[in-house]
Amino acid sequence: MDARPLILVTNDDGILAPGLEALAQAAHALGDVVVAAPESERSGSSRAITLHAHLRAKPLRERWYAVAGSPVDCVYLGSLHLCPRVPDLVLSGINPGYNLGSDVFYSGTVGAAAEGFMRGASAMALSVDREADPRAVTPMVHRLAQRLLAASERHLWNVNIPPGAGRREDEVVVTRLGRRAYQETVEERLDLMGNPYYWIGGPPQVGDHQPGEDTWAIQHGKISLTPLELDITARDLDATRRVLAAADDPTDPSP
Ligand code: MN
Repeated sequence: MDARPLILVTNDDGILAPGLEALAQAAHALGDVVVAAPESERSGSSRAITLHAHLRAKPLRERWYAVAGSPVDCVYLGSLHLCPRVPDLVLSGINPGYNLGSDVFYSGTVGAAAEGFMRGASAMALSVDREADPRAVTPMVHRLAQRLLAASERHLWNVNIPPGAGRREDEVVVTRLGRRAYQETVEERLDLMGNPYYWIGGPPQVGDHQPGEDTWAIQHGKISLTPLELDITARDLDATRRVLAAADDPTDPSP
């Protein structure tokens, strides 16, 4: 690593989000910072990538770019073009609203961090309570980013910080993904022409959380740090082999 680490900062809430400014501030104390973030809110865009349209990256100030694309586009363009080299660390957030359990499959905050990891950097997604001031957690962000930069191998971390926690000395619990329950809602409304349209997705519900899960940690006021891997292959391949090996049904008429 060069003497001064290179850190790419991004988010899924857009270039004007307060969490981005707070994250960039925390990063400045650790190295050279490039910011590349979507020009407008792209929450819930997961690993979306723009392959069938062009991208523009508007420089807003020195080393700050508003990208007309997804969080993954920002990290792809940032790592391979806007940064002078592949960054040592990609920081994504600070998202207003937790990314716990199955949220990681939808989250643009996590999607951007995962892209950073795929491009060769260590990466960390950061989320806080929806109502929290992201500036309150910058000491903890600084501490965790420092650890990632000092590590000899790369890591991908999903970090959630509850209200009241985030000071440098606060406890961090290493967790696995829990199960986050939402009210499953499809709301149908009618437009002015009488045609139906829909809002999907309901608010989170209080779930039954187990110790060791990220959801449990947050419920108990602790900072959760879930290390992620990108290989989501099922652990038990034999279960599938057994399904395939099951004897064919002799009454099945298909050839
Ligand atoms: Mn967001």
